[in-house]
Amino acid sequence: MSIEKKTKLVIISSPSGAGKTTLCKLLIKKMKNINLSISYTSRSKRLNEINGKDYFFITKKKFQSLKKQNFFIETATNFNNLYGSPFKNIISSKKRNQHILFDIDWKGARKIRRNYNKEDIIDFFILPPSKSELQRRLIKRGRDNQKEIKLRLSYAIEEMKHYNEYKYVLINEKVHKTVNQIEKIIDYHQLILNQKKILKSRLKKIINN
Ligand code: 5GP
Repeated sequence: MSIEKKTKLVIISSPSGAGKTTLCKLLIKKMKNINLSISYTSRSKRLNEINGKDYFFITKKKFQSLKKQNFFIETATNFNNLYGSPFKNIISSKKRNQHILFDIDWKGARKIRRNYNKEDIIDFFILPPSKSELQRRLIKRGRDNQKEIKLRLSYAIEEMKHYNEYKYVLINEKVHKTVNQIEKIIDYHQLILNQKKILKSRLKKIINN
């Protein structure tokens, strides 16, 4: 499967509570050439979430039916809930010549790597500064109960074992600093691509003249 060269598939994964969602939102605000891939999920909507903005909240039954229709590039189960990235987001980003940002876990990242060209993917793994900081952040955001926080912490340890599958691993100490680093890396990839194009056309001219 090959996509138009200008569109990069930017993947951001991290354990729950490492600040990934805030990071993605800031990145979208800052960079004008990137769209967020809004996932579908069977999990219940949290108080501050908006359907169609944070996720498309659907039933398990609807999710399974969409999955059967090949609606998703990838799906995964997390915390007993289903999550999936739809194909349509890539198609619309391609049309607009924009990058697409996936806020997904390592299982989803693996599936995308399997189906797309390596050079079209820029993947980041975001780590919290420490385990205790991760726990503090999970408690601070106050949206999960104690049982869920415990569950998310144990998943976080498992999730972190996959950091070395990613091209870039960043420690999210200050969110604005991390956003800047991500932006620079994406721009760097774009620059390399443009350099390659320029070089190719110059080489052609040299060879043909
Ligand atoms: P949360 O329920 O906290 O919003 O997300 C739980 C986990 O599911 C996070 O690691 C998040 O990145 C991941 N996730 C969200 N959407 C998708 C998706 O479409 N596919 C996959 N594979 N993971 C997702």
